[in-house]
Amino acid sequence: MKSQARVVIIGGGIAGCSTLYHLTREGWSDVVLVERDELTSGTTWHSAAQVTNFGAAQTVVGLKSHSIRLYKELAEDPDYPINYHHGDGGIRLASTQDHLDGYRHFISLAKGMGVDFELIDAAECARRHPLITTDGLLGALWDPSDGDIDPAQLCQALARRARKAGAEVYRHTPVTGLTQKASGEWVVHTSKGDIACEHVVNAGGYRVNEVGAMMGVSHPVVSMEHQYFLTDPIAEIEALDRRVPLIRCPTDDFYSRQEKKGLLVGFYEQGCKTWGLDGIDPDFTNALCPNDPDRVLGVVEGACRRLPCLATAGIHTIINGPITYTPDGLPLVGRVPGRRNAWCIIGLRAGIGEGGGHGWLLAQEMVHGQACYDTWCLAHLIHESRGERLADVA
Ligand SMILES: Cc1cc2nc3c(=O)[nH]c(=O)nc-3n(C[C@H](O)[C@H](O)[C@H](O)COP(=O)(O)OP(=O)(O)OC[C@H]3O[C@@H](n4cnc5c(N)ncnc54)[C@H](O)[C@@H]3O)c2cc1C
Repeated sequence: MKSQARVVIIGGGIAGCSTLYHLTREGWSDVVLVERDELTSGTTWHSAAQVTNFGAAQTVVGLKSHSIRLYKELAEDPDYPINYHHGDGGIRLASTQDHLDGYRHFISLAKGMGVDFELIDAAECARRHPLITTDGLLGALWDPSDGDIDPAQLCQALARRARKAGAEVYRHTPVTGLTQKASGEWVVHTSKGDIACEHVVNAGGYRVNEVGAMMGVSHPVVSMEHQYFLTDPIAEIEALDRRVPLIRCPTDDFYSRQEKKGLLVGFYEQGCKTWGLDGIDPDFTNALCPNDPDRVLGVVEGACRRLPCLATAGIHTIINGPITYTPDGLPLVGRVPGRRNAWCIIGLRAGIGEGGGHGWLLAQEMVHGQACYDTWCLAHLIHESRGERLADVA
């Protein structure tokens, strides 16, 4: 293991792997990623891994488009192909006029980033997704580039490319402490020895505040339990000669995509449950929370109304895992306030779709001092939360 590097990234999920890869792309090859277990052993391995282009801010649309372009390129790499269902398409349902009006706004916002969404009516929704009912449906936003990816393969592909460019990855190497010297240089203490470095990056996923505490910082990020169900094969899907698109329903708070010949259906319940606030078991790795289907029953009913096949489909598997949230739902990507040469890529709640883009923007900020998009929406909360102004920490 190296004892000196320009950058040490803590955490080998999508956030850390994407940052590592993009740092090498931006020209820094003396970079190291340190992971306490195997790559993707935090949240990333069990993600539903939908990759969408939709965003409520132009920066988010732009960084998601970057993810999609990058993932497509990785999937098509003949030396290391990965599974990516690019272009299944996505339907964001509208049951109210407000939803439709909002979608018109998002269509023009995305157009400014070179992304073409389309407004479709209810009949067209049913033509594109033959398993849905159109009761009470006014229309939808259609996103042609939506799809899903194998998240473990994605991270391995990013790490592989980064390694080829000179980066190093140390697995089974927990970071146990961080010390900053008067010069601003960091010493990263690990179970296998120390690494001195110029910059340190917190990409610790749901352990964000364990890593934050090592540098005396508390980040406004909490984890919530989040569940999806995988169904047994569904006859209507087996009968189709194409894959069905993704669905997102802001009224009934569920999402769905095809998984093999069945459906994956995820739920956002009102009675949500925080996770890990009183500390996280050090052995919680490659792990899930206990199944808790009763908690999402209210939203399951809505999903069954829109997708009647769900009422009779067998549930094959339930996945319940921790997902990180900030107060405004946007990740925190950029400098850690009040700490020199410390960076974070944390609070990712759609980290598979967005992670390619976030790692890209963070690497640009670190290497060039600025990113190609306005990153204020990804950084301001962290500064406000500590009552500091950006000028104070830049
Ligand atoms: C059920 C579920 C479904 C989801 N579906 C989607 C979806 O459809 N689309 C989407 O885009 N997103 C989805 N997400 C969210 C997405 O999976 C996450 O945003 C993303 O995986 C977070 O990646 P990360 O790298 O930030 O964190 P993690 O994957 O948790 O990675 C953090 C890593 O840091 C390591 N680490 C922590 N502390 C240390 C330390 N001290 N030393 C060394 N290493 C350390 C951990 O071991 C871990 O490997 C879903 C999440 C859940 C729970």
